[in-house]
Amino acid sequence: MRGVSREVLARDAAWSLADGSCKDLTVEWARWEATYVASVTAAARLAALTEPAVLCADCPIVTECADLAELSGYTGIAAGQGYRNGRLDHARQRQPRQRRTA
Ligand code: SF4
Repeated sequence: MRGVSREVLARDAAWSLADGSCKDLTVEWARWEATYVASVTAAARLAALTEPAVLCADCPIVTECADLAELSGYTGIAAGQGYRNGRLDHARQRQPRQRRTA
């Protein structure tokens, strides 16, 4: 991708979002993202991704959406995955360490 800036790639990806399967689901999407962000456990976060992941699986621009999430440093749900600052949110899916007692 030499010679093509991140801004150009992000702009091109953003244009294609108008064709996304979620384009008319603003209220539902906001609810899904709020639930995802508020989820404390990995199991709860995975559960919060269930509905958007089904929608995204059939979306014609899922690849562009994932690219835009990465290029723009997105935090939230995109392409059926959780993102934090443009990276897949694997770190948030780890279980917290057990506290040692005695
Ligand atoms: S992949 Fe998912 S989040 Fe991205 S545009 Fe399509 S439906 Fe929306």
